[in-house]
Amino acid sequence: MTGEDCIFCKIVAGELPAEKVAEDEHTIAFMDLNPWTRGHSLVIPRNHSRNLYEVDPEDLRHTAVSAQRLAERMRDRLGCDGVNLLNSCEPAAWQTVFHLHLHVIPRYEGDPLRLPGQPQRPEEGELARVAAELRA
Ligand code: AMP
Ligand code: ZN
Repeated sequence: MTGEDCIFCKIVAGELPAEKVAEDEHTIAFMDLNPWTRGHSLVIPRNHSRNLYEVDPEDLRHTAVSAQRLAERMRDRLGCDGVNLLNSCEPAAWQTVFHLHLHVIPRYEGDPLRLPGQPQRPEEGELARVAAELRA
């Protein structure tokens, strides 16, 4: 399965260069071109899917397991103090490349990376209302 004009499919096919750090039968991991921290990498399934909504659950599982292995390697080789896993699904959630990928972002004590979001105190009853919508 390949996405036409998908840059990550081109990386899988070897038609675009990438600084690969790991690969197996189902997944490839390579350096993000614009890293947020030292070692910031992307893990993708070899099979094309647009994002979390569409990925085959088995491909998602393989991708998550590869991300776990890579996180351990970042800890052992780069000496990071923690890792953020990030996935963006659709433009409203910052997705810019439409082939499922997990960002594996090594974190270092005191590094300057901050997420733009601020936790908000919900209105009275809001948590119960939204939970009911999700449960239905
Ligand atoms: P997202 O915004 O979650 O869709 O993330 C896409 C990520 O892919 C961004 O962090 C880009 O820096 C990265 N990126 C785009 N093109 C390439 C490429 N050819 N090789 C490596 N990383 C890329
Ligand atoms: Zn693709």
